[in-house]
Parts: sequence; structure tokens; C-alpha cells
Amino acid sequence: MRRMLILGGTTEARALAEQLAPRRDLAVTLSLAGRTANPVAQPVPVRSGGFGGAQGLAAYLVRERIDLLIDATHPYAAIMSAHAVAAARSAGVSLLALRRAPWIAVAGDRWIEVADGRAAVQALGEAPRRVFLALGRNDLAPFTAAPQHFYLVRSVDPVEPPLAVPHARYLTGRGPFVQADEHDLLAAHNVEIVVCKNSGGDATYGKIAAARALGRTVVMLRRPALPAVPAVATIADALAWINHGHAPSAARDV
Ligand code: NAP
Repeated sequence: MRRMLILGGTTEARALAEQLAPRRDLAVTLSLAGRTANPVAQPVPVRSGGFGGAQGLAAYLVRERIDLLIDATHPYAAIMSAHAVAAARSAGVSLLALRRAPWIAVAGDRWIEVADGRAAVQALGEAPRRVFLALGRNDLAPFTAAPQHFYLVRSVDPVEPPLAVPHARYLTGRGPFVQADEHDLLAAHNVEIVVCKNSGGDATYGKIAAARALGRTVVMLRRPALPAVPAVATIADALAWINHGHAPSAARDV
């Protein structure tokens, strides 16, 4: 029986685990960063929390006799992805990345692409604006440098303590978020600018489509550079890679 570790926290990691859970030739464990208070139930055994860097992950791979490592983390989890490469190499374990394709701007989109949160603050400008921060709660700190704006903040878990800004409203919610609801949300709060990551996938695309329909600006944080490893973009391709002896030729860098 082959032993597999999926680095998760994404819809894709869960969906892949669901496909693999019934298999008798694989023992699958899913790893979560452990930051969400009430994580979604998973179809395979879960371990939670950091490994203690690349060395800690390498030690885990050896100790747990893992044969296959799947990096199905969020496309912005660049540290974890780099650790996965180093640990897989050091432990002699096969590695595949499952990476969602990014969204591409289409006609009608008004995107300003920026490198990081600080650049996003710059892009908002000096004049007070009404801004929807659709970012993880760990990515909000730079916006305290621009307290003149109104912020509508949505996160999975409550933002505590709240941001040190005078005008903010907080929502909690876990996707998927459909376009009609996102449209209503942007309209109800007179949002002028949406700030978000290029997460890709359908679950959080609603706000992008809604911003386009309303003619609103999107400040899009660019994806971080990720290590060049064998990678696939879909669950089907990941399954093909797993089933065909995990040959790197079955995958491509994405
Ligand atoms: P990161 O910055 O790449 O990772 C930081 C540390 O968190 C890692 O070094 C590792 O700790 C731990 N870690 C991350 N993913 C892990 C996993 N699946 N299992 C065990 N430990 C894990 O990634 P991040 O802090 O999770 O997030 C970076 C960006 O991705 C943020 O913008 C966040 O909003 C977004 N994001 C992440 C997730 C997720 O589930 N990770 C989900 C949605 C969005 P050690 O070094 O101690 O091993």
C-alpha cells in the first residue's frame, strides 16, 4: 500500500482526498495549516498545524513512510510550497503540485494588478474610497496605513482584534459565493474597489464577475512565484498522475 500526504486547505485538496478515500491501495492523510477555527470535515484522516519548516516536513515524510506528496495548498501558500520541494527532495519522496489555474481578465474587467498588500494600499489612492477586502484575515494589516477608506472585510473567521481603522464593517463567510449575492453585496455597500487574490477556480469568482457587471475596479494581488515542479491543474490530471506510476512526464509545470 502506498502512503500519501496531501498538503491541503483548499477545495481541490478535499476533492482529491474524496476521490482517493475509498481506495485500498493508498493510505491518504491530509494536512491542514490549522488556522481555521471550524475547518470543513475531510474524507480522510487529518493532521493539523505546521511541521516546523522543510526539515520538519522531511522528518514527517520519513517517519510516516510517505511515498507520495501532493502539494494542493492555496496558490499564495508559497512558503509551504517551497518547503514541500525541499522536504520531498531530502526524503526521496515523489512530489506533485495541484495548482488551480489563475483567473484571466476579460473584456469589461478593470483590474489593477499589484505585487502585495502594500502596493494594493497605494493603488487605492489618497481620496476616501469604499473598499471590499476579500482577503484572508492575515493579509489585512497593510490597510491600517490608509484609515481614510471605508472597508468591508470578509473572512472565514472573525477579525480579532478589529483593524485599527475608523470605518470598517465585518462579515464572516466561507465560499462558494455566487455572482448574484456578490452583486447585491457590492451594491448594498456602495463598494467602489474590490481587493483580492487571484485565487482561481469557481468558488470565489462571483465577486470578479459582479465587479465587472457593476463597472467596479478590482485591485488584484499577483500570485507569488512558486517552485517549478511537476504540476497539474485538475483533479482528473492528479488522479492520472497517481495512477500511472507518478511519472513526471504525465505532468507539466503550471
Ligand atoms: P505559507 O505562508 O506558505 O505557509 C506558512 C506556514 O504555515 C508553513 O511554513 C507551514 O508551517 C504552515 N502551513 C501552511 N500550509 C500548511 C499545510 N497545508 N499543512 C501544514 N502546515 C501548513 O501559507 P499560509 O500561511 O497558509 O498562507 C499563505 C497565503 O495562502 C495566505 O494569503 C492565505 O490567505 C492563503 N491561503 C492559505 C490556505 C491554507 O490552507 N494554507 C487556504 C486559503 C488561503 P511550517 O513551516 O511550520 O511547516
